[in-house]
Amino acid sequence: MSDMVLVFDNNKAWVDGYCYQCKQSLSFNPNLVPSLTIKNGKQVTPGTPGSAREPFCQSCITKANVVRSKNGLSPLVIHPDAYKPCPEEEIRY
Ligand SMILES: [Zn+2]
Repeated sequence: MSDMVLVFDNNKAWVDGYCYQCKQSLSFNPNLVPSLTIKNGKQVTPGTPGSAREPFCQSCITKANVVRSKNGLSPLVIHPDAYKPCPEEEIRY
């Protein structure tokens, strides 16, 4: 992820960063936030060398779901804790 800061505070942890789509600043749980693995602006398989996992905000996912439903795809589900801090020990990268 680019320009992302992992924050630890009071045994809680979260990431301050930006939505990949709309560039809105965003705090999120890196384990749960809706994300895509991106390289050179394109979605790639997780683990691709040079790729980064990029987060998306709630409003972009909501907009994407409108398009998905028009195209007959099932909606992306946002975890209820996706944009909340989590216990520090749950952070994994
Ligand atoms: Zn967004």
